[in-house]
Amino acid sequence: MILIDGKKVSEELLAEMKAETGRVRASGGKVPHLAAILVGNDGGSETYVNGKVKACEKAGFDSTLIRLAATVSEQELLQKIKALNEDDAVDGFIVQLPLPKHFSESKIIQAIDPRKDVDGFHPSNIGRMVMGLATYLPATPFGILQLLERYKIETSGKHCVVLGRSHIVGLPVSILLARNAYPGNCTVTMAHSKTEHLKSLTQSADILVVALGKAGFVTGDMIKQGAVVIDVGITRLPSALTKTGFQILGDVRFDEAASKCSFITPVPGGVGPMTIVSLMRNTLKASKKEVYSV
Ligand code: NAP
Repeated sequence: MILIDGKKVSEELLAEMKAETGRVRASGGKVPHLAAILVGNDGGSETYVNGKVKACEKAGFDSTLIRLAATVSEQELLQKIKALNEDDAVDGFIVQLPLPKHFSESKIIQAIDPRKDVDGFHPSNIGRMVMGLATYLPATPFGILQLLERYKIETSGKHCVVLGRSHIVGLPVSILLARNAYPGNCTVTMAHSKTEHLKSLTQSADILVVALGKAGFVTGDMIKQGAVVIDVGITRLPSALTKTGFQILGDVRFDEAASKCSFITPVPGGVGPMTIVSLMRNTLKASKKEVYSV
């Protein structure tokens, strides 16, 4: 079994971006600038946003964190988005999800200028992804593709089962792994909560991508011998045993899976760090105006 070390790959990619940004800075070019809007003070969101700011530092990017109270109105948030859309100094920005209940996430995402939508959630960017046009790929699926590529994992002709059909992970990863490219050319089965005979499906998967948000859902007997297992799940549980006061669990029972699979991503340290790095790569693309020129 080979452990897919997302932390290591992400550090390598951040270092590559830092070298590139250093050259841009030295030549007086546009240094990539990522902004993030954080509404409220949800612990998980706070951790994710801080991780993104830290990654900007590591990649040599400029960053701006805009904090808004949980009580802010939708109108005020939309105004902030408009200001960022019009700010030439900012190449790309994100609104950290989930938002408090009184917001329509769909309305907020659609208010972001697609040219600055480095999360890749805007319908224009999803449409461009489906059409195979230059786009900002959603960060988590993009991170998964980069891991498959870095570990030279064969995907062509393989049966890939994706557990989960969310707009940010399951659905886009299914589309990307089915496309006519590398990584891709898989025969993809996308499963969800209404899927019948789930176990027999996962047992036939050469590549199993799990994005459910259910800690330890996938047991060893659900995995085919020699399969590649990509665990996207992140469940934060309170724990008296860690410094942070919580522990992070994946959707796959790692110990049971590790003895059967050929490759596996750990949680934490697998897909998570790659999601942040993919956001950085999209921001770099945005600063170079690479996407909407094509
Ligand atoms: P989500 O929007 O809640 O979607 C979960 C999906 O799982 C849904 O499609 C749901 O089916 C399906 N599902 C639930 N129970 C199931 C069951 N028993 N059998 C089969 N399918 C089932 O979640 P998400 O946003 O995709 O996130 C999934 C997990 O990934 C979460 O733990 C999240 O924290 C994590 N995540 C990690 C990263 C990272 O960087 N590593 C990034 C994003 C998300 P229905 O559609 O039928 O309800």
